[in-house]
Amino acid sequence: MKRVGHLINGSEVVGGNRCQDVYNPSTGEADKHVLLATKATVEEAISSAQAAFPAWRNTPAIKRARVMFKFKDLLEQNSDKICQLIGEEHGKIAHDAAGELQRGIENVEYACCAPELLKGEYSKNVAPDIDSWSEFQPLGVVAGITPFNFPVMVPLWMYPMAIVCGNCFVLKPSERDPSSTLFIASLLKKAGLPDGVINVVNGDREAVDTLLNDERVKAVSFVGSTPIAEYVYVTASSNGKRCQALGGAKNHAIVMPDADMDNTVNQLLGAAFGSSGERCMALSVAVAVGDVAGDALVSKMKEAMSNLKVGPYDDPDNDFGPVITREHQQKIIDHINHAEQQSAEIVVDGRFPEIAGYERGFYIGGTLIDRVTPDMDSYHAEIFGPVLQVVRVQSMQAAMDLIDAHEYGNGTCIFTRDGEAARYFSDHINVGMVGINIPLPVPVAYHSFGGWKRSLFGDLHAYGPDAVRFYTKRKTITQRWPSAGIREGVLFSMPS
Ligand code: NAD
Repeated sequence: MKRVGHLINGSEVVGGNRCQDVYNPSTGEADKHVLLATKATVEEAISSAQAAFPAWRNTPAIKRARVMFKFKDLLEQNSDKICQLIGEEHGKIAHDAAGELQRGIENVEYACCAPELLKGEYSKNVAPDIDSWSEFQPLGVVAGITPFNFPVMVPLWMYPMAIVCGNCFVLKPSERDPSSTLFIASLLKKAGLPDGVINVVNGDREAVDTLLNDERVKAVSFVGSTPIAEYVYVTASSNGKRCQALGGAKNHAIVMPDADMDNTVNQLLGAAFGSSGERCMALSVAVAVGDVAGDALVSKMKEAMSNLKVGPYDDPDNDFGPVITREHQQKIIDHINHAEQQSAEIVVDGRFPEIAGYERGFYIGGTLIDRVTPDMDSYHAEIFGPVLQVVRVQSMQAAMDLIDAHEYGNGTCIFTRDGEAARYFSDHINVGMVGINIPLPVPVAYHSFGGWKRSLFGDLHAYGPDAVRFYTKRKTITQRWPSAGIREGVLFSMPS
């Protein structure tokens, strides 16, 4: 069986006995082991990053950015291989994997702007002959801990910007689909990144806890489920580290009575079922305002879903692939069962799709559940599967109240032709990322990404301008060069 190891100080490390199977979710077979780093292995990675830091910190920003320009080219040249690795271990269809990679590359492009982003702030003559400026210095060794659902894009949210800002990085990707992440990190060496500036350790809680408790790690970026995000945030913060921890989601789309229903259905199809619903921005709840809208939505959606194709990642005709593990497949089935037991109406049932030749794969077909109410367990849970729930309300305000009352606040959207309603919605809704007739309002790389409420712990959002602030600390310098002729006396009052 192939062993997937770590990348430490520029070399692949494959020692150690702790390991876990890596599955191909399309077939349900495991043909790889991923090594689970011990505390000692993670400490070795941190030491390597620490050793690389002084020279990297002093490398001019333009030279650091040049590595990113080459890295971007290498990502594009290797896109087929990267998408293949994503597909094998995640189950994502090739065109979806290509979209993930492209969104990741856009973060590398933004990181290429480092010399501009790090110019700092300058004020001449803040007092006679005194100048003052703020500069943004790297933190040192910083860590990233990432989820299975975007094994390429989410790490690229983090380390390109961290590295161009002059930090050295230790990445702990998901142990469920580690190969694409590891392969991409190896491209950085080809792009000219000095050894030790990026290190990748695969592992589980032992690796995470080592990163959270080692005092050499100055900041932690985390993306994953809310319970782990909260744990990471609390632990890292109590250890004095800067931390941003992005968590789970339950994204609602309001469907207004005046919405263009055919367009809405098309948008919802992709946003609810694309990537098997395993996106933190997936739309998993449609809130229909009024029964006329509710009936039209459900009947058109049912009809459109008859054409949905679920199957293995390597058939480009499929719309989406399997879910990540057998346990996760069962968890999704349990949620659908609960909804049914609690009197919701299963309009399209994807619990047991038949896919010839792939009987052991972890498949769930597109599922549509109508007449879900907020007291149902399945309404509250982040199902993270190809399941769209429909809740019916009688007014836009009731729809907004529902969204505001939910514990998550990652993304939301409204389908309407009414600009005034859309403007009121975007202004008042208690959610971090809002779409107006846009189902997946994932900000572009030069804005920042983050939810509100229990979808994000911390102050700064991921990537974009917030990432520059997250991965640097401000230093403000005030300077005077007294010439021989000017000497001031002692001053005991506050300088003004
Ligand atoms: P997860 O929380 O299970 O795992 C995320 C990371 O935490 C992995 O690296 C994993 O190894 C580690 N981890 C898991 N259990 C741990 C523990 N007990 N102690 C310490 N570390 C632990 O998440 P996942 O299942 O890989 O990813 C799906 C989740 O991520 C969903 O909830 C999804 O909404 C969320 N997500 C959020 C965003 C966002 O931007 N808000 C983006 C992508 C995914």
